Amino acid sequence: MPFETILGQGQAKHIISRAIENGTVAHAYLYYGPESVGKKRMAMEFAKALNCAQPGTDGACGVCPSCLKIDQGQHPDVFLLEPTKASSTARDAAIKIEEIRELQKKLGYTPYEGRYKVAVIDGAEKMNPQACNAFLKTLEEPPGSTLLILVTSNPYQMLPTLISRCQGVMFHPLPPEALRSILETHPDSEGMLDEEIELRVLRSQGQVARALAEDVAEIARYREELLALIGQLSFRRMDVLFQWSREVARGGDTQKILEELLGLLRDLAVLQAGCGAEALNNRDLASRLAPLTQGKSRAAVLHMMDAVFRTRHILNMNANVQLSLENMLLQFCEAA
Ligand SMILES: [Zn+2]
Repeated sequence: MPFETILGQGQAKHIISRAIENGTVAHAYLYYGPESVGKKRMAMEFAKALNCAQPGTDGACGVCPSCLKIDQGQHPDVFLLEPTKASSTARDAAIKIEEIRELQKKLGYTPYEGRYKVAVIDGAEKMNPQACNAFLKTLEEPPGSTLLILVTSNPYQMLPTLISRCQGVMFHPLPPEALRSILETHPDSEGMLDEEIELRVLRSQGQVARALAEDVAEIARYREELLALIGQLSFRRMDVLFQWSREVARGGDTQKILEELLGLLRDLAVLQAGCGAEALNNRDLASRLAPLTQGKSRAAVLHMMDAVFRTRHILNMNANVQLSLENMLLQFCEAA
């Protein structure tokens, strides 16, 4: 399938198709950027374009035996390595040295069918230190006709010596229109109303998996509760405010709720700065957010945001949830 079918990522597409066109494909690339924006998909399309029987001006044909085998994970010259868990109960997935050694063995042979051997290492930051050291040798002296593509959303967790040997290609969050069309045709979005898709697009930060995973009903409930809360900030309503703290402490997803709260406060600050509804994260709530800006100074809203940041921080250090939330609301009342 040609690069054109990958939505967004114009800059990455440009870099890759230029390299193919000019015959200047590097030995190793690092694809980095947010999760779920098309990095792995682009790496596989690159592998297809390099080995395609009838490549066009815009990447692979998508229908020749080579392209089909890569799509099915059965091409003898194209390898995809991903982190795996040591056992079903293990907490973290990793790429281990045995897997790197196995890959190096396969890369050592000349290509069976294709023109290029391609290894895509997804979640490259999950290589453990031994795996990294072993892989470094391949990066330093790559076998001929070999392309290595390291894919990561956490490049800062990788060894600088690995990064410095790769050509970096940066990926960006998907623009709303690209994300919307991906969601509209995605099997998981069957039966979704337009408003729901729109809400997911708005809240996804340009990431497909995030847009699909969002629990829209839960978010809607949190937002309702938080709007009510922000509307009642007063020392005279401490009973209501403390009741909310108690309920959240008893079983709410505190981090998620605070994230929503920050989003709403951020929107209040944006409205106070004179921006229109199109600048809001919670665009669908514009008419309900506007009245909440009344009687609050911008400094007050910023002070409240600051209180949320601090609360999140101390909760990460295992502070008591109910006390921390109560303290945060006291600071809100003081600011409001
Ligand atoms: Zn093809």
